Amino acid sequence: MISLETWQAIQDRRKSVARVATRKDINADFPLRGFVTCGCCDEPLTACWSTGRSAKYPYYLCDTKGCDLYRKSIRRDKIEGDFEALLTTLQPSRNLFEMSFDMFRNIWEHKVNRSREATLDLRKNLTAIERKISQLLDRIVDAESASLISAYEAKVRGLEAEKALISEKIGKSERPSTDFTKLIEPLLRFSQTRAFSRLLSDWRTKERC
Ligand SMILES: [Zn+2]
Repeated sequence: MISLETWQAIQDRRKSVARVATRKDINADFPLRGFVTCGCCDEPLTACWSTGRSAKYPYYLCDTKGCDLYRKSIRRDKIEGDFEALLTTLQPSRNLFEMSFDMFRNIWEHKVNRSREATLDLRKNLTAIERKISQLLDRIVDAESASLISAYEAKVRGLEAEKALISEKIGKSERPSTDFTKLIEPLLRFSQTRAFSRLLSDWRTKERC
């Protein structure tokens, strides 16, 4: 297995932003050069274009004198195809995985808390409006002037409209806009790993408490 750093370095090379100044000419053609070692002597493989009768062919090969595989070339397509297959089987390290999970969980908890606070504020507003409406209704009962009554009634209508709007907002805010599992979608690709299942079930247990 290769480290994440190595993997990133390979990605950079494949995008032709190699940081190493040596052999710039060959890096773009052979991104794995310097990363893949010989199966026999464990020295890094070198790479070259081999000239055939009508065209040039790309190869990786061992250049260590005395090695059993010295100058035995491997087709570039073969080695890079195998490497890509290997990449698809890579999984993040446990540390990286747990760190990412914590990060997503923090974001989620922050979202949930903010949503709870917002709902609480809305509920306070709603209570205040209901109190005002009730006070106005009391005044209407006691009022004798018709114009005063209709002024109070207009105020009540305004407050009722405000109340409806806030109630609607409360209804929306109580439903979280994103699901936690949607938030951690990038991690779900690794849902088969035991580490993930354990973290997720721990989180679910905590949520229920
Ligand atoms: Zn070798």
